[in-house]
Amino acid sequence: MSDDAPLGESPEPVAEEEPSSDPQADRQSPEDSFAVVANDTRLSILRELHDRVAVADRTEYTVPFTELREAVGEPDSGKFSYHLNQLLGEFVEKRPEGYAILYPGTELVRTVKSGAVGPTEHAVSEPTSASCYLCGAPVCVAYTYGYVSGQCTDCRGALGFDYMPEGTLSSIPVPGAAVGDEIEAAPEALLDRVHGRFCHRARTFGDGSCPRCGGRTESRIRVCTEHDASDGPCVECGTTMSATVQVTCEVCSEGGISPAACMVSHRAPFREALAAAGVDSLGYDAFAVTAGWTVHVVDGDEPAVEYDLAAGRVRVVVDGDIRILR
Ligand SMILES: [Zn+2]
Ligand SMILES: [Zn+2]
Ligand SMILES: [Zn+2]
Repeated sequence: MSDDAPLGESPEPVAEEEPSSDPQADRQSPEDSFAVVANDTRLSILRELHDRVAVADRTEYTVPFTELREAVGEPDSGKFSYHLNQLLGEFVEKRPEGYAILYPGTELVRTVKSGAVGPTEHAVSEPTSASCYLCGAPVCVAYTYGYVSGQCTDCRGALGFDYMPEGTLSSIPVPGAAVGDEIEAAPEALLDRVHGRFCHRARTFGDGSCPRCGGRTESRIRVCTEHDASDGPCVECGTTMSATVQVTCEVCSEGGISPAACMVSHRAPFREALAAAGVDSLGYDAFAVTAGWTVHVVDGDEPAVEYDLAAGRVRVVVDGDIRILR
């Protein structure tokens, strides 16, 4: 260093103003996560870093500052640096070679991508070759306000909550982007895929693990004491089943109601009963068979339901977790 260069000042002008590597240590409520991406530049940064991960192997997804700024298309280096700084620590990591997305950043990008627009109003397919598990009539697939459902073309269906059209057999949340144009173009594939996913998720919940976040779940039986499904879904509980399971993730609150049999269909003797019904993969048929089994409410010390299977009467105890007794 020469004598006339003031201490602490770089002798060369800095071309790009990179943010400091200090993480934003004191931000971390979930609401703040959305504030972070409620800005086009910040969202573009995350998308750009995320797309690099999708195409590169893990050693190559670090992007140098200038390359990232140019890819995002922000000419103002100071402004770009400010937004990048907002993401550091929680969503983006600064490394010697550049910037890389962290897992929470990837999750945010996925949420934004899967929330992309799909059908916006009520859309119903032509009847498919699938049949109603209550009456045997052909089933259509519908998309309404973020939910895919099987719709019976003849009977009043299994679910009668007031926001559902008559004939509803299932109601499964699916992002519009995952539905696309399939209501018209490929309704059977959509019906199968969505109900298969429901079954997979129900099984994971049945094992006590949240399929969304991996958190611990809590399962309770939802018994209808005034049950009457003689003329379609019961007005008290909204379903044709006298008992269903209500499951909730203790971490992210993901959950919902499911027939108990769907949640244990991978365990003996339900597994064998499903195979005996000719079902060897998870799609609409797996859902229909398990949802179609008659459930009996049990009066006993423990909250439980029972099913009559070929193996005999099987008891499913639902008390926080789910156990099968024979
Ligand atoms: Zn029907
Ligand atoms: Zn969860
Ligand atoms: Zn009821």
